[in-house]
Amino acid sequence: MPQSNHFAAVQHDDSHAFPVFRIGVRQRSLFVDSERQQSLVFAPHKDWAAENKELRGHCGCLKCLLFPGPLIQGISNAMKVLVPVKRVIDYNVKVRVKADQTGVDLANVKMSMNPFDEISVEEAVRLKEKGKVSEVIAVSIGPAQASETIRTALAMGADRGILVKTDGEVEPLAVAKILKAICDIEKPSLVIAGKQAIDDDSNQTGQMLAALLGWPQATFAHRLEFGETSAKVEREIDGGLQTLAITLPAVITTDLRLNEPRYASLPNIMKAKKKPIDEKTPADYGVDVTPRLKVLKVCEPPGRKGGVKVKTMAEFLGKLREAGAL
Ligand code: AMP
Repeated sequence: MPQSNHFAAVQHDDSHAFPVFRIGVRQRSLFVDSERQQSLVFAPHKDWAAENKELRGHCGCLKCLLFPGPLIQGISNAMKVLVPVKRVIDYNVKVRVKADQTGVDLANVKMSMNPFDEISVEEAVRLKEKGKVSEVIAVSIGPAQASETIRTALAMGADRGILVKTDGEVEPLAVAKILKAICDIEKPSLVIAGKQAIDDDSNQTGQMLAALLGWPQATFAHRLEFGETSAKVEREIDGGLQTLAITLPAVITTDLRLNEPRYASLPNIMKAKKKPIDEKTPADYGVDVTPRLKVLKVCEPPGRKGGVKVKTMAEFLGKLREAGAL
């Protein structure tokens, strides 16, 4: 029995897909099944915690109340995850270049969450469902409508959002500086970003953020495994897969095959409307977002030539030789 001044009853809740232990307070008895302790997974019940602030432990955290004695192995409910989510042109939209070649036409175009960021949100929410993470924070830097992108993340299971409102395009370095400032305040154990945004295809933000923070990075994550203070990351590289071990806090960027993001259910979309989104500006974080790059021109890629059908393998090889591919 853990030594403590706290008195709590821990109750298994079968109505959840993953084990949830709600806490209630009883006088002078602590009901934790010692035989099951090793397999307990703690997912804090937020409403309960909000209503019962005075029942939290000495340090003010729920872990202190629930597990006041020696920490149960393999459980860290203090881990916060920050997930940057960018609002981009939906991947199904056929992009049109503006006639003056200054950019692409965004008028009346469907916008969505960057697909790699959906994968990041899914991974963070799965970690939360496994009890490895206590809070998932979705951050978007962009116009007011980027709050819709944050709502999508909240409907998928993120807990709260931060919208950093900007008018124009923000380059990866400025995004990374804003994210760094947010990390300094929020102190997450992990940032899970997408490997690239499908609009500018920069593939820079996660790497720059890791450098600014001085944290380890593991990009193009294909599979993740977490310990208490470290992670094992399988990454997609040209030659196959590479496995890295990194210590937390760290920055991870997600690749396509990490998971298949869920669709938000209607009840979760409704619930997401009540989740908080903080509104900020780059100035709140002391970041100047003035562009440093000048776009000279944006143009359509050259049209693809039609293919030809061949009847035999010899003919096929001949065509490849003609094209200089062999
Ligand atoms: P990039 O370096 O622009 O290809 O973007 C890589 C990743 O950085 C994206 O998948 C997002 O996770 C994050 N990111 C980039 N720009 C933004 C933004 N404006 N707001 C939120 N996240 C962003």
